[in-house]
Amino acid sequence: MRATVLHAPYEVRVEDRPKAALQQPTDAVIRTVATCVCGSDLWDYRGVNEVAGPMPGGHEYVGLVEEVGSEVTSVKPGQLVVGSFFASDNTCPNCENGYQTNCLHREFVGGCQAEYVRVPLADGTLVHVPGEVAEEHIPSLLACSDVMGTGWYAAVAAQVGPGDTVAVVGDGAVGLCAVIAAKELGATRIIAMSRHTPRQNLAREFGATDVVTKRGDEGAARIKELTGGIGADAVLECVGNPESMQQALHSTRPGGNVGFVGVPHGVQIDGEELFFSHVALRGGPAPVRAFLPDLVERVLTGRINPGKVFDLELPLDQAAEGYRAMDERRAIKTLLRP
Ligand SMILES: [Zn+2]
Repeated sequence: MRATVLHAPYEVRVEDRPKAALQQPTDAVIRTVATCVCGSDLWDYRGVNEVAGPMPGGHEYVGLVEEVGSEVTSVKPGQLVVGSFFASDNTCPNCENGYQTNCLHREFVGGCQAEYVRVPLADGTLVHVPGEVAEEHIPSLLACSDVMGTGWYAAVAAQVGPGDTVAVVGDGAVGLCAVIAAKELGATRIIAMSRHTPRQNLAREFGATDVVTKRGDEGAARIKELTGGIGADAVLECVGNPESMQQALHSTRPGGNVGFVGVPHGVQIDGEELFFSHVALRGGPAPVRAFLPDLVERVLTGRINPGKVFDLELPLDQAAEGYRAMDERRAIKTLLRP
């Protein structure tokens, strides 16, 4: 099968690899309908994370079930399915508590920029998308596999509710999806922090009421100005670097919440400052599986259209250009068609 492999920083190739196959009776193999490049793939691509050897890329997928193991009962060949980047049994205590990305049996679903993907724990991991699915919904269903689910978790982790003022740090695909989530959860004022006009426009289309172009402490000061001097009720941190986390903490009102979903790279939090700020923090790898059935329904009924974050679509064989375009910020997010 054709699949992307990262060989060294900035060196992605599409190669022939052995076709994904069942390894356990609880596995499914899916034929990928659409996959994509994630902002977090860029950490490897740029060499921020060490590339130890050839690394198959990608962890986002929507596809048709090709075959299932003997113990799989909830999905069958031919069905359109979407799942999260962590396989989960959906039955252990952590799953029952809504933290499927901390499933006691979790397994990373990697190598998804490929024609076929092996999905472990298929019964717990995959969500069947019912009915005749229109082609126009495929990008949004794909977005639910990670960025929409992650943006949603940022808002849930920050306890966004009706009437809230929410600030979103980060204008990547996750940040933009976090704007959608804040709106769906009832926020009435949503402040997107972005310096890029196309991303500002999409943020507004998704529900942002204000845009702040300043960063760091200047950005936080601007959020305070916009919120009567106290800060936002909830701040959604969707980047993961020291500056973005500081910006989030300093933009939140006492008693407010930061939901952080950018994978932290070099982030340090000062305990004393946190103590006196009265700000609550919750984050982590989003338990996307917990939100998938609801998100799929919102997509199919046309309530949300997170697929708009894909502003570049390429055949899988041109994945290298898809990575480059995102690295150079020419594209928000690249969709790949096997
Ligand atoms: Zn579990």
